[in-house]
Amino acid sequence: MYEPVIGLEVHLHLKTKTKMFCSCSADYFGAAPNTHVCPVCLGLPGVLPVPNAQAVDYGIMFALALGCEVPEWTQFHRKHYFYPDMPKNYQISQYDRPIGARGVLEVAGERIGITRVHLEEDAGKSLHPAGEAHTLLDFNRAGSPLIELVTEPDIKSPEQARLFLNHLRAIAQTLGISDANPEEGKMRADVNVSVRRPGEPLGTKVEIKNLNSFRSVQKALEYEIERQTKILKKGGQIEQATLGWDENAGRTYLMRTKEGEADYRYMPEPDIPMLHVTKEWLERVRAAMPELPAEKMRRYREAGVKAYDAEILAYDRELSGLFDAALAAGAPAQALANWLNADVRGFLAAGEKTVAETGLTPEHLAALVKLADEGKITSRVAKELLPEVMEGADPARLVKERGLEAVSDEGALAKIVDEVIANNPAVVEQIKGGKAKAINALLGQVMKATRGTARPDLVRKLLAEKIGVEV
Ligand SMILES: [Zn+2]
Repeated sequence: MYEPVIGLEVHLHLKTKTKMFCSCSADYFGAAPNTHVCPVCLGLPGVLPVPNAQAVDYGIMFALALGCEVPEWTQFHRKHYFYPDMPKNYQISQYDRPIGARGVLEVAGERIGITRVHLEEDAGKSLHPAGEAHTLLDFNRAGSPLIELVTEPDIKSPEQARLFLNHLRAIAQTLGISDANPEEGKMRADVNVSVRRPGEPLGTKVEIKNLNSFRSVQKALEYEIERQTKILKKGGQIEQATLGWDENAGRTYLMRTKEGEADYRYMPEPDIPMLHVTKEWLERVRAAMPELPAEKMRRYREAGVKAYDAEILAYDRELSGLFDAALAAGAPAQALANWLNADVRGFLAAGEKTVAETGLTPEHLAALVKLADEGKITSRVAKELLPEVMEGADPARLVKERGLEAVSDEGALAKIVDEVIANNPAVVEQIKGGKAKAINALLGQVMKATRGTARPDLVRKLLAEKIGVEV
């Protein structure tokens, strides 16, 4: 029996107006190559970088949101490496004085340690035109602000890794510091994974790079855990390596084997003084922070929502907004959470829609949930009405117009029950013969005859009474 040990390294693009150390616009998405550049981000001699105050605020905010310690003094370092898309031949990053350290993010009741959060600049982009012998360089992205986050190897499953990233995205989006959209490259994750027998020391880990969706992270980890486990079971050894992920083939592939840690010759950035993060600065940033998903979750728990549902909702920005508004409109909390996490989510996923793309209002949702929760309509009728309510219909009006109120009048139901019993002698014999489950067939017919409005518990009781069996 082997268990996986997983750590993540996540890069988030910050949503600032300008780049990390110059005044070039950071909004270069879709722009012509090399139109968002200046001597600073091109690394020309004699220029001076100036840290972007908004980016530093965002870094502090993110660190605080993850419960990190923010040091009184934070510092930028030069990290040297040579690559064509890095014009300075070093990246301005942070080393031993990052903007945040020793944080924690709770995922489904498990605490995942955050080793560090630091600020740095992104590199440019190399483009390799098909069939050409040369490489093109676009420096629009060079110098744009990034947060890098590194976790402790606390993650115990691919599913947990996906949830962690989901939670991280929700936090970044709630703070408004990043679009955190993996599809647009605004959030990238590298993973470290090894397997071991429980209680044994850590095994040799491999790194999987360039995973551009949360689903890829989960799939790549599942594949890699299985691959490593098979090797170890056969008595083999894991080779330390950097792997890529082939999405189409559904497997990892070798990029390079590691020959030890790269030496980046970190040195303090001489052109940027250490930043003094005063108490006042911290308090100013803290005061500007909106309610975080973890706080939302606590609030939902207090409103009576189960932990599992509260967590899913709190880390879903769209549905939590709807939850808050529908709760304020009088919907019962747990029933509302059930509707959002199951039916509404399913409807949106099936149509690949966002809430804003539907006609759903919090008031209509609250009304529908209340009607069903109070037994004024059956849950079957409620579910049948949902698509129309999602398109903007008022559920109370639909119920009234179509006479869909739940029927709990035994006299009215008894007549239909009698008819169904009379029309199905064979089924009745089966039930009398001990096949209790066959009663569902009759129940279904009564529901159909009443367009789903009959209270199922009542119909079941009447059927049993009239046939003469116990339910
Ligand atoms: Zn620039």
